[in-house]
Amino acid sequence: MVAGGENNYDYLIIGGGIVGSSIARELAARGAGSVAVLDKEPRLGLHASGRNSGVLHSGINQKPGSLKARMAVEGNRFAREFCKEHNVRMQECGTLVVSRNERELAVLNTLLEMGKAAGVEGLRIIGRDELSEREPSAVGDNALLSPNGAIVDSEAFVRAVAGDAQAKGARFVMNAEVTAIRERTVISKAENFEAGHVINCAGLYSDRIAAMMGAGKGCRIIPFRGEYMEITGLPVNSMIYQAPDLRYPFLGVHFTRTVDGRVLAGPTAMLSFGREAYDKRIVPGESIGMIASVNFWRLVLSGEFLRLVWHNGKISFSDRAFLAEIRTLAPDVEMSRLKPYRSGIRAQMVDRRGRMVNDMVVEYLPAGSTHILNAVSPGMTAALAFAAHVVDRIVASP
Ligand SMILES: Cc1cc2nc3c(=O)[nH]c(=O)nc-3n(C[C@H](O)[C@H](O)[C@H](O)COP(=O)(O)OP(=O)(O)OC[C@H]3O[C@@H](n4cnc5c(N)ncnc54)[C@H](O)[C@@H]3O)c2cc1C
Repeated sequence: MVAGGENNYDYLIIGGGIVGSSIARELAARGAGSVAVLDKEPRLGLHASGRNSGVLHSGINQKPGSLKARMAVEGNRFAREFCKEHNVRMQECGTLVVSRNERELAVLNTLLEMGKAAGVEGLRIIGRDELSEREPSAVGDNALLSPNGAIVDSEAFVRAVAGDAQAKGARFVMNAEVTAIRERTVISKAENFEAGHVINCAGLYSDRIAAMMGAGKGCRIIPFRGEYMEITGLPVNSMIYQAPDLRYPFLGVHFTRTVDGRVLAGPTAMLSFGREAYDKRIVPGESIGMIASVNFWRLVLSGEFLRLVWHNGKISFSDRAFLAEIRTLAPDVEMSRLKPYRSGIRAQMVDRRGRMVNDMVVEYLPAGSTHILNAVSPGMTAALAFAAHVVDRIVASP
């Protein structure tokens, strides 16, 4: 325990997104010590945790045995229970992954096996009749139905988790951007803090915070923007996905219903020249840093990355290409029914060999810090289970 004092905490969490807030809640619930969360923004949910698709994934497309697969399946259950208990808007509407040919049907069968291996319950492949009964707008021969998929108001979810953490004793300090860390002293734009243990949950800036403490060596966050279009007048009852390309950590453009009744198409996966460049602007300092990194060059030299950027670049900058992508799932949609919607940015970790890391990465340093370095999708779904997993390890170490 650190010595008591207004700004001394046993656990100091940097970043109050869904991951930081869930870890604060878990530590406070266990009475592990005093807890504070610092966030650079005036309110919570302004980045990935409030700008995502709002889907509580069932865990079907995660590699069996991976940390993400375990956390997604368990986290899905925890999140649905939490939302019911705390009156967070959530609808258990199920997920459909649609196939239009034999090759895509083979992907559905792979997903079925992966999902079963990860422990996802209730999965089954349905035929064309049941698909059109469930989703009259969707076109396909078969679909993988996952009944545990749900939609949630993601901003309300992060606020409710943070509220519960506060009710259990954690303190949240807003407008507190962390600019430096010297041993146990965390220097922020609000005040300075002393910490027994620092937990880095800074999302898009997690590699920078890690570097302040000698962690995350060789890894770099490369931001990928996900853009959405709202489709008006299209009846969608659940979530409709294309059969994904399992080589990439991103799902293709899909349809999601939001809890307030909108239908969204997206997200794209476009390289972003700024970590918070939601409006597609170029942030010169961050872009130069990214382009100068060996991680970026090795990523660029992989043919798969170029294919991803070429395909998503077209969708990102041409409404016609976006419409063509949408029509693969619902051929009757007209351009007049599309309205641009907000975007989100993924904090994708790329290792020194230029590979996009698919699993969650946590680095525990014996000197008293923990770094969440790759809380990628479905990080919101996984958050409550992931928090328990991380806290088990932190409180067990001396
Ligand atoms: C487009 C998109 C769609 C997605 N869809 C889904 C989905 O449908 N379902 C799902 O489960 N997951 C989804 N995800 C993934 C999910 O949103 C993330 O895994 C999750 O939100 C990560 O949470 P986080 O707390 O790590 O990050 P964030 O929410 O980004 O939180 C990080 C926090 O750190 C703060 N911060 C950063 N730097 C500092 C600093 N120096 N000092 C203080 N504070 C700092 C930021 O202000 C921010 O609040 C999606 C992600 C994106 C981008």
